[in-house]
Amino acid sequence: MKEFLIEDSTKYHTLKKVYRLIYEHGPLSKADLQTMTNIKHTTLVRIIDELLIQQFIFESGLGNSSGGRPPVLYEIVQNRGYIIGIDISRTHTTIALLGLKLSIIEKYTFPMTHVHTPEIVIENIIDTIKLFMQRHNVTEEDLIGIGVGSVGPLDRKLGLILDPDSFPCIGWNHVPIVSSLEKVFPVKVLLENGANTAAFAEYLHSSAIGQDILYCINGVGLRCGMLVNGQVVQNKTGVASAFGHMIVDIDGRECICGRKGCLLSYTSLDSMKTQIYEQIAAGGKSLISTEQTLTFELLIQAAKAGDEIVENVILNSAHYYGIGIANMINFMQLDQVLLNGPLIYEYPPYYEKIVQTAQKYMFNTYENAVLFNKGALKEDAVPIGAAALLLNTFFT
Ligand SMILES: [Zn+2]
Repeated sequence: MKEFLIEDSTKYHTLKKVYRLIYEHGPLSKADLQTMTNIKHTTLVRIIDELLIQQFIFESGLGNSSGGRPPVLYEIVQNRGYIIGIDISRTHTTIALLGLKLSIIEKYTFPMTHVHTPEIVIENIIDTIKLFMQRHNVTEEDLIGIGVGSVGPLDRKLGLILDPDSFPCIGWNHVPIVSSLEKVFPVKVLLENGANTAAFAEYLHSSAIGQDILYCINGVGLRCGMLVNGQVVQNKTGVASAFGHMIVDIDGRECICGRKGCLLSYTSLDSMKTQIYEQIAAGGKSLISTEQTLTFELLIQAAKAGDEIVENVILNSAHYYGIGIANMINFMQLDQVLLNGPLIYEYPPYYEKIVQTAQKYMFNTYENAVLFNKGALKEDAVPIGAAALLLNTFFT
């Protein structure tokens, strides 16, 4: 399967074209494929025979008859290949083994702590991939490739994670993630920003309208990925945090970048913590203690228990987040906005306030044209999308 996907000769172009159609739209009959491709009938028959002999596709049943014999339907053989999808973020790393149709067969997540140097993380990744391969009888020939969705900035060409901020462990500087994996596994390794891979995964997963999508992960920081015409928008440096430094209040709170009023200075966990502490210092009563390490879990617990300070800080964050999203919609004419993050999933008033505010500041023209949603794949979006983008490179 790997050879077939890598092969780039003209003969293989047609073979891959038919395979891809069956992959994306199967089960399909010969007549369906004929209509979709305009390939000569005899050629199509030969191609399907070849795909059947190689066991890339199989006869999955019979379609509806239009009078004569019902047509044979073809589908791809799922276990002919496997892909690894990886998510490297500031809080965790996930390694997932996926089938050809991008369903997760097994995944493993470990937290990123102050001891997680790049060397240790890469070693963990390699060991986990080997373990998955052993456990699921995946041979080197069956492993098609590895997709890595990481926090940026990145050097995609050289396969490096450059110098991402706010990693809990030092040493994350020019990390050769691609070559480190290629040395051990004889496969193609793709590196892309995790927010972009997540956006791509949600796009493939969703049947909703539109190909222009903004996807934001509001975790420790704020990361955002974008698709235009269903294609990942690659900025130069692979940084996904630029959206967080959009100015939403020119006289606003100080940001970690030194400017004032960046979106991040209202939406990051750290900025919310600072705001809560300020109000406690000014005599406000809160369930949050300045002694404890503030996590999203504690924040959500306090808000749900009716802690007014926490509720107000969260909703204020949602207000500015909504303004930032409205700016993006007005500029990019987006079809869909997908949001991911603990507050999005666990604290409904946060999500509702973001959508309400965005709608308030959007141009009238887009009022009914933009779809807001929570990311359906949640934390699996990054590794699934990384695997999907890897697979995509063989078809384009
Ligand atoms: Zn900033």
